[in-house]
Amino acid sequence: PFKRSDRAANVQLSEIVQISEAAARLRAEGVDVLTFGTGEPDFPTPDHVIDAAHLAAKNGQTGYPPTQGTPVLRAAIAADATRFSGYTPEASEIIVSTGAKQVLSNAFQATVNPGDEVILPAPYWTSYADMVAFCEATVVPLECGAVTGFRLTPDQLSDAITADTKWLMLNTPGNPSGAMYSRADLEALADVLRAHPHVWIVADEIYQHITYEPFTSFRAAAPDLADRTLIVNGVSKAYAMTGWRLGWGIGPIDLIKAMVAVQGQSTSGASSISQAAALAALEGSQNLLAERAEEFRERRDLVVGALNAMPGLNCEVPGGAFYAFPDCSGVFGKTTPQGEVLETDADVCRYILDDAHVALVPGRAFGLPGYFRLSYAYATADLKEGCRRIAQALTELT
Ligand code: PLP
Repeated sequence: PFKRSDRAANVQLSEIVQISEAAARLRAEGVDVLTFGTGEPDFPTPDHVIDAAHLAAKNGQTGYPPTQGTPVLRAAIAADATRFSGYTPEASEIIVSTGAKQVLSNAFQATVNPGDEVILPAPYWTSYADMVAFCEATVVPLECGAVTGFRLTPDQLSDAITADTKWLMLNTPGNPSGAMYSRADLEALADVLRAHPHVWIVADEIYQHITYEPFTSFRAAAPDLADRTLIVNGVSKAYAMTGWRLGWGIGPIDLIKAMVAVQGQSTSGASSISQAAALAALEGSQNLLAERAEEFRERRDLVVGALNAMPGLNCEVPGGAFYAFPDCSGVFGKTTPQGEVLETDADVCRYILDDAHVALVPGRAFGLPGYFRLSYAYATADLKEGCRRIAQALTELT
């Protein structure tokens, strides 16, 4: 009979996928469901990027790519960091992978042993915890609720570091909270980290270009920690290229070499066509970044305004990404028209899916119960209708 390895025994399909599937089942029954569950831009990949991919395929860029990434793309990534992030890495400090997700997976696989600890400020992107667990290391979640703007404080960090701490995981702007760390926030965390030279820092900056406040890269805020910092980024969110599976990591050469070795034995590197496409995205006009961020800002204002007008919800204004993460604990204890008492964020999301036909993700999936995540990477008309339905469902509670 089939049996999973011990390592894979606890890896689950993410709750987000499960919710998308539940929504798809309702839709198959003919119900008009609005899904605000997933996190991908609803814009198409820009035409010039698609043309570059087509040309690359036509011109014979169809063989195995260099495992670390093509030299031209790594040079473009270095130039991109100079232009947008305030530091200039060497091309040898860069690895190109099959999405930012694989960068993270390579990093953990290349560095953590059973018993090592990875500090995860919660709420966190679900996959971090699963990736760490898959490597048999220990997740140390630190609750960072609305009170601290969903940001880790220097005191929390300092209290959580032990001799076994391997990594601190930072994500700015954050998924699911949309919270951003200011330069001063990052400098204060770096101060703590300077006293603990065994702790490495991974900063996932994949939402860098979807921001409504000034963005600071951790590496720019703490250049002296570059020899133990891994920056993660990619084209998925900025250029609406989630399906191309192309991301990169920037870190010290020894770490990058170890990640390249892991990657060499798993995927052999990112698709050559996607690398050509990413090159075009980085080298082409960047005007679309600001245009799209502006579009997302309008949707943010619409959604956050609507959520804060609903009974029992309280939503911080996110500084980046395309998620709203309202506190829904004000609804706990209320009774649905069907007589069910809502006690958790999961109850609230299930009620909203059943009653309002809007799919949301409960905060517990991100390590912070009491909230839910609404992705606003959807058409404005759908967002308006979705908010109307959620408001209606909440007013039906007694
Ligand atoms: N990091 C965060 C915080 C994300 O939210 C996501 C996607 O949802 C990723 C990384 C994955 O990015 P990629 O598509 O490049 O693998």
